[in-house]
Amino acid sequence: MSYEDTKLYFFHELTHAIQTRKVDNHEECSFYNGKTGMFLTEGATQFTAEILYNLSNGTNIQYRQQPGVVRGHPEYAPYSPLSEYQLNGNILMLLSSSLGVPINQLLALGYRKDGREQLKQMYEVFPGNKGKFEEFMFDLEKIYSIDKLLIAGKGDLLQGSPQNIIMQDGQQFAGNLQIQGELIEKVERELAANFISNNEPEYIVSNYNRILNFLTTPKLHQNFMNAVNEIASMQNPINEIYSTQVR
Ligand SMILES: [Zn+2]
Repeated sequence: MSYEDTKLYFFHELTHAIQTRKVDNHEECSFYNGKTGMFLTEGATQFTAEILYNLSNGTNIQYRQQPGVVRGHPEYAPYSPLSEYQLNGNILMLLSSSLGVPINQLLALGYRKDGREQLKQMYEVFPGNKGKFEEFMFDLEKIYSIDKLLIAGKGDLLQGSPQNIIMQDGQQFAGNLQIQGELIEKVERELAANFISNNEPEYIVSNYNRILNFLTTPKLHQNFMNAVNEIASMQNPINEIYSTQVR
């Protein structure tokens, strides 16, 4: 490992260490409550680490298109400043735009004991998200668990029919690469839909890039732009036709 890589890794581990706490008989860390939340925790930790790393080097964080970094899904392309956990970073950016909470504020929640609870409230305040936070976190954790298996070299097993996957806390679900891909799309689609249904048309038309940039597949791009274009065309009708009564 180069000195620079070591430094970035150190900031990542340091952030974990600061954000870890013992609750009753289990460990919690940032958004992780002992069951779900590691997907967002790794994204937020890496984001924080890269901000610290850039600060210490006097450089700026650089967003870049990164095709081929989502394990098992070479066609997915995150747009991310991160050098690891790029997809997790994208979901955090979508969450930020979808909820209207600045990314720095989301990252800061990772340091708070009640950070996960606060995030839940911010998420469920939207009518379409009511009561859905735990399902959202569970979907993300399935994506995370399958990624863990890919890192461990179990990719071959995940190519075929769904496998029974047992998570760290003992919860089980049926998963394979195809299901993981569908979950990634589901999560991104729902965050984009929340942005569309909870903002004014003018705001959507001038800020759609806040969502578009962080959608990771061409299909999601296309569907989102169709919705934006529809809103834009309702905003500015091409022709206004006035008809007079024929007598
Ligand atoms: Zn980590």
